[in-house]
Amino acid sequence: PGCGECEGCRTALAGTHGDIKIVRPEGTIISVATVRDELRPWAYKMPTTADCRVLIIEDADRLNESASNALLKVVEEPPLRTVIIMCAPTTNAEDFSVTLRSRCRHVYVPTPHIDDVTNLLRAERPELTDEQAVWAAMVSNGHIGRARGFVSDEGSRAWRGKALDFVEAVFDPAKSYLAARELANEVAGEVKRRMEPLEAEELENLERSLGVGASGKGAQAALRGSKGVIKDLEDNQKRRRRRAESDLIDLSLTDIMGLYRDALVLAFGAERAGGTASGDLSSAADSEFGDGSVYLINPDRRRTATELARRLPPEAILASIDAVTEVRGMLVTAVKLTVLMDELMAKLQIAGQAGRR
Ligand SMILES: [Zn+2]
Repeated sequence: PGCGECEGCRTALAGTHGDIKIVRPEGTIISVATVRDELRPWAYKMPTTADCRVLIIEDADRLNESASNALLKVVEEPPLRTVIIMCAPTTNAEDFSVTLRSRCRHVYVPTPHIDDVTNLLRAERPELTDEQAVWAAMVSNGHIGRARGFVSDEGSRAWRGKALDFVEAVFDPAKSYLAARELANEVAGEVKRRMEPLEAEELENLERSLGVGASGKGAQAALRGSKGVIKDLEDNQKRRRRRAESDLIDLSLTDIMGLYRDALVLAFGAERAGGTASGDLSSAADSEFGDGSVYLINPDRRRTATELARRLPPEAILASIDAVTEVRGMLVTAVKLTVLMDELMAKLQIAGQAGRR
């Protein structure tokens, strides 16, 4: 482990280390062009200050087939002093190229424990109460980025609430299709809200570097030339928004699934005795136990989970979870979000009939 204090550690943490490259895809895929023109040449250069170069590809599940093949050449004949780290949700074929996997060493990184996420949040934001930190760690189900969003952004909490309301609407014919449409129709607005500050900053930085707003000789000509560059940025931002919309709906689907999972936990009596985030805090920071009992992911929606467990036999709860999984799979296709959410609502209503006599 690094010391966290030397020049190398500090620049690595700040993301400015010259021998570390982090690839965070902004499109739904990492293209073959990115691998060929950007990553491969970078990987073959010698380290400048460190002993080796480190290339980190976040969301390596977004490498499409041709990009994976282009990367395969680097992985098969690896540059002597470059380490490539590829992060993917699982090693399943749908998440990570089988040929690439066979040439990698697999390092399993567990989901952080609720305890760890809680402590991290407390360290970062001392003003949080214990209850707020534990709640955010629990409902984010170990996802640090989400947990940070929950404690800092009211809008993120509200968006999660909408996804969970969706489940409540499944059994209410007067509300069900309105609720389905609500998520799909509002996702663009929510993404806009989250992205706009970043986009404005990017535009401002670009304009400054192009000298927009300058006056004098040549300024007008420079301005004309800069239009194409600004257009490129705007196109990229638009693409990033579309991906963010699909990611946000995917997150909502995960939330929906989590609530059905909670119902299943209650149906089987597998809930850890005596615990929610608002109960005993010291023990609430444990999420898994030797006896197989678990905490609810959504302790604040216990009423809904209880109601689901009461109304639905376990087969129907499982069928509902399957329905959500199926719709998540459809998200990568070009189906319109309104159609997709209608479909989910219909599937959940049908799944609710499973196991009934
Ligand atoms: Zn160090």
